[in-house]
Amino acid sequence: MAGPRIPERIRSLQPYKPGRPIEEVERELGIRGSIKVASNENPLGPSPLALEALRDALPGIHRYPDGGALVLAEKLAASLGVEPQRIVFGNGSNELLELSCRLFAGPGDEVLFSADAFLVYPLVSIAVGATAVKAPARGFEHDLGAIAARLTPRTRVVFLANPNNPTGTIFRRAEWERFLARVPEDVCVVLDEAYFEYVEDPEYPNGLDFLDRHPGLVVTRTFSKIYGLAGLRIGYGVGSLEVMDALARLRQPFNVNMLAQVAACAALDDDAHVEASRRRVRAGRRRWSQACAALGLDFVPSHANFVLVRVGDGRAVTEALLQRGVIVRPMDAYGFPGHVRVTFGTEAEDERTIAALEAVLAARGCARG
Ligand SMILES: *Cc1c(COP(=O)(O)O)cnc(C)c1O
Repeated sequence: MAGPRIPERIRSLQPYKPGRPIEEVERELGIRGSIKVASNENPLGPSPLALEALRDALPGIHRYPDGGALVLAEKLAASLGVEPQRIVFGNGSNELLELSCRLFAGPGDEVLFSADAFLVYPLVSIAVGATAVKAPARGFEHDLGAIAARLTPRTRVVFLANPNNPTGTIFRRAEWERFLARVPEDVCVVLDEAYFEYVEDPEYPNGLDFLDRHPGLVVTRTFSKIYGLAGLRIGYGVGSLEVMDALARLRQPFNVNMLAQVAACAALDDDAHVEASRRRVRAGRRRWSQACAALGLDFVPSHANFVLVRVGDGRAVTEALLQRGVIVRPMDAYGFPGHVRVTFGTEAEDERTIAALEAVLAARGCARG
């Protein structure tokens, strides 16, 4: 029996390969006590305020959540300085990336992004039948001029990650302003700011400041990274009333679960947790710069909570680190086969990862010599 016909574009999709769960790796290798520095999670865990709010909310999980997430929307809107109707929440900010593609692009349309960008962009573009168009990167950075040069009358959506994952690089205000001025008003620009809260560069543009300059701008952010709620799946987009109203029509009625809403609300109040997370990442950046210098490794200076390090054979080094109970992310799928991406962990996790990497590189050096 032939069965239903799977479209060729779906058949040929490269599934997104997430960082491997600790439990799975330990079962496979028969080891204990592993650490995961592979998915840019917050090593400090969730906010204690969020945990407390979750415990209080648990007895109510037989109820459907508030479909509009009104309490959270009002609180977040006040803190961002936008109207609540201009925020749409998603099951992770990834859902906003997908909804934007579904809203604006279809077969025959083009979705444009940088060659070194987040792998979810091609996935959601191809899923709706659009053509994914990649603009060349400039070294490890988005080249906004090269992206603008690839706009065509068929371009419906442009994805930009600032900072980018997996490179950790940013584009700055002047380049962003020049770019935005070149994008036609009927093109949707999705500015993915998943790591916004970690950036400290004074020239880093806050996407929300530009919403009035381009009617198609959608800024996405998430509770998965600095807020430490990746497992609950909640993120959001901010854009014009018109676009956000359309995105809200497209989402499922209860796309964000009640626990996620409650935890996000509480996490927004926990300035101490956010500040501690920032401090940890600052320390991680410093420590990894030192370590790379000491080990003679090239790395890409990071504005986010992870670093791209050139190790030679990224897959082999990832496997060897796994054997030592350290889970990092190989980067061949992103076109960086010589690199691994490492998330800044706790101080102890950073030290363990650096020591394991040093041992692995030394062993590989011996094996080669
Ligand atoms: C982690 C990440 C996200 C966030 O995804 P969620 O669905 O909110 O967990 C979005 N974009 C990039 C570039 C990321 O690295």
